[in-house]
Amino acid sequence: MGADHKVAILGAGFAGLCMGLRLKAQGETSFVILEKAERVGGTWRENIYPGSGCDIPSHLYSYSFEPNPDWPEIYSAQPDILAYIDGVVEKHNLSSHIRFNSEVVGAAWDEAGGFWRIATAGGGTVTAESFITAWGQLNRPKLPPIEGRDDFAGPAFHSAHWDESVDLAGKRVAVIGNGASAIQFVPQVAKTAGTLTLFQRSPNWIVPRMNRPYTEAEKAQFKAQPAAMEKVRTEIFEMAEARLAAKRAGTLPVEEVPIPLAHLHNQVADPALRAKLTPDYEIGCKRVLISNDFYPALTRPNVELVTEAITRMTPQGVVDATGRLHEVDVVIYATGFETKSFAGETAITGLGGVSLAHAWRDGPEAYLGLAVSGFPNLFMLYGPNTNLGHNSIIYMIEAQVDYVLQALAAGRPLSVKAEVMERYNDDLQQRLANTPWAGTCTSWYKTADGKILNNWPDTARAYADAVAVFDPAAYDVVKTPEPAE
Ligand code: NAP
Repeated sequence: MGADHKVAILGAGFAGLCMGLRLKAQGETSFVILEKAERVGGTWRENIYPGSGCDIPSHLYSYSFEPNPDWPEIYSAQPDILAYIDGVVEKHNLSSHIRFNSEVVGAAWDEAGGFWRIATAGGGTVTAESFITAWGQLNRPKLPPIEGRDDFAGPAFHSAHWDESVDLAGKRVAVIGNGASAIQFVPQVAKTAGTLTLFQRSPNWIVPRMNRPYTEAEKAQFKAQPAAMEKVRTEIFEMAEARLAAKRAGTLPVEEVPIPLAHLHNQVADPALRAKLTPDYEIGCKRVLISNDFYPALTRPNVELVTEAITRMTPQGVVDATGRLHEVDVVIYATGFETKSFAGETAITGLGGVSLAHAWRDGPEAYLGLAVSGFPNLFMLYGPNTNLGHNSIIYMIEAQVDYVLQALAAGRPLSVKAEVMERYNDDLQQRLANTPWAGTCTSWYKTADGKILNNWPDTARAYADAVAVFDPAAYDVVKTPEPAE
């Protein structure tokens, strides 16, 4: 008895869709994409907060094989990115391969059958020779463990679960957290809220956002001359790669980081507020943020920046370390995501019944961020140590998909050799030790004891080079049952 499909893909975000699109382009029809939600889009389906957008320019933050001459601006907003994804899916008629409302709750390698048995919520089972996971690294919203959090009497929600039914106009709003998500919606919410109280645990390095709309003439040129559009994409890519060197200026003292400090100086006149907003850790340790409207929002009369730690919450609001109660009507958590497990709660079982949770008891790691020893033909897209701080994840995903397609072409279940994976990760961690992420800050890139689980240490091109050619010698071929005579 064979498997239902050659390939099962978990997730219909940018990565899972890329895998499906490339399989389809090769003429493969035996694949299914299992998506927990009722529509495609992944992070761009979820993050609908006001001001949501991408801080990588759109001509690069898009598939290389599906350029879009109609990007409205350099940095497009969430609705435009989601519309782009919808358009690509429709153009390639990919929906027929997607099973919506099908959350994967577990997957086990069936040794007798030589395939993956994948369980979906509601009791369904799908079998597939290969299992490609495209979870994303930022899709499990994290709420802070604040005493009394659930006692708060008003509406409260996470930035990735934005509650559009709550009208914030005229309300007293508390925002907890000031990362990439918060800095996008705080200026929008501040415009209509009665008051906005922003609780900041640590300030961020923020640089100007050099955005502008594309003119009709530019869009017409991109349509007429795809090479001109390709040139823009290449220029953005090369600039981002070059900027990595600047971001590695993690060893420079703070006062030698002129651009973000000048930006702060230009936008915030009050020295006390400026001091609160000045980071005391190396630039690049956390993600460098880009915004033109965050600092000005903090200078509005209806906005207060609170830097005292939060000690507890009450039905009325948030209490800080000085004992002051900040009475509010609504609390918005912009406190980020659970980024360390990669697999979330999904139970994955490989060879010999060993669970992924066990294999990863000392922290998630993979070979090339893609393959884990003991888990045959399980390939991860945007897996451990494949995140970037400086360039487009879609570029990384495309490189990974190319590699996976080569691996699948082997036509045999492959498990990466344990010693290959170990050597790879020893080297990786050594390289990571010399990056700014290893600095003194806390970030979603690393564990409490400082191990960096999410980021790739080098340029995006160096990663693409590393995965350009599938290397069969790194893998064992897993025994499968002899076909019946
Ligand atoms: P984040 O960067 O992890 O920020 C979480 C924020 O919440 C931080 O300010 C953090 O403070 C604070 N926080 C967490 N736990 C807290 C607690 N218990 N008490 C008080 N404060 C707490 O999350 P995010 O803003 O959602 O962004 C996550 C990532 O998503 C980004 O780095 C980026 O990769 C991606 N993203 C990109 C864009 C874009 O392209 N423009 C937009 C949104 C998100 P500390 O800094 O002190 O830990």
